[in-house]
Amino acid sequence: MTNVVTTATSSSWTAEGSTAEGLAAGVPTAEDLTVEGPTANGSPTTAVLDAPERNPAQLPGTQNVGAGQMGPTGRIMPDFPEPPRLRTHGPARIIAMCNQKGGVGKTTSTINLGAALAEVGRKVLLIDFDPQGALSVGLGVPTYELEVTIYNLLVERGHDIHEAIQHTSMENLDIIPANIDLSAAEVQLVGEVAREMVLARVLRPIVDEYDVVLIDCQPSLGLLTVNALTAAHGVIIPLECEFFAMRGVALLVETIDKICDRLNPRLQVDGILATMYDSRTLHSREVVRSVVDHFGDLVFHTVISRTVKFPDSSLAAEPITTYASTHSAAEAYRQMARELIARGGAA
Ligand code: ADP
Ligand code: MG
Repeated sequence: MTNVVTTATSSSWTAEGSTAEGLAAGVPTAEDLTVEGPTANGSPTTAVLDAPERNPAQLPGTQNVGAGQMGPTGRIMPDFPEPPRLRTHGPARIIAMCNQKGGVGKTTSTINLGAALAEVGRKVLLIDFDPQGALSVGLGVPTYELEVTIYNLLVERGHDIHEAIQHTSMENLDIIPANIDLSAAEVQLVGEVAREMVLARVLRPIVDEYDVVLIDCQPSLGLLTVNALTAAHGVIIPLECEFFAMRGVALLVETIDKICDRLNPRLQVDGILATMYDSRTLHSREVVRSVVDHFGDLVFHTVISRTVKFPDSSLAAEPITTYASTHSAAEAYRQMARELIARGGAA
């Protein structure tokens, strides 16, 4: 595998609704962008420099940018190498996927980043921490008639966490599901001693069994989210490339700071992930630019495009990495996984 994320075929771009002009205007094929890797001094090879000029307004997606080229965030795309296989597993790094705004791609990113990490041999546990149970449904776990969900682990004593863990159809990818019961936990936990640390305690027995634990937070900054942030080492903030994307992010960052101060000093922001990016609109590009202006290198180089393949794969109850394995959107989450590992956000 090269260090360039280019397995998308031009036919998948067409399926994305790219215009014929877009393709005719010199949109490069996978071969055009394939490079041997950086040269000894780290500069890109000429193959990259020879890639045809592209009109950004007609770019079909974001994942066809090789290392050394200008990426969708307006920065040069670094090389994110294929991560080495792990010989041993654990202890897990715990990451909360968090944004109190709904519909920004938290659940989609939890599923697909998790699946991409599992593909490269990481043992991954996903925690559904939203009473809507979208993460569970999105992976084909029935959310009703479950004996033990995350809710039971939080509010009842005497459960073994392993009773709640379900295996998904993907190797290395497990989940602790949730259902509407979880909505009662917020109220029930209020009277608990150390009520912010309940999830951290629940997860402790399995930390050595996984490499990464991803927590899919609900869209609020209530007690459940505070529990997720208290249990976590890092936070990934998905941001939809829309007007008002940044609204509320200041409050989220303030909350993270407070939790870091008072409850969980190890907590850090791992990065901000731009989602639902449409490279054909000036608007999307402006949102990404303003997010980068604001947050600089906290913003992941990987950007997730808007594509109907995501809702389609949720309906099929599969990660995009298996539902549409060669689609550029699947590649995007694979790149995201490599970027996270390269940044030290995962083993
Ligand atoms: P959240 O968990 O933040 O509420 P979701 O991940 O559930 O957000 O996404 C909200 C909706 O948007 C879902 O229907 C999902 O399928 C869809 N979606 C998520 N990411 C994308 C994307 N990159 N392109 C198109 N649709 C997306
Ligand atoms: Mg969600």
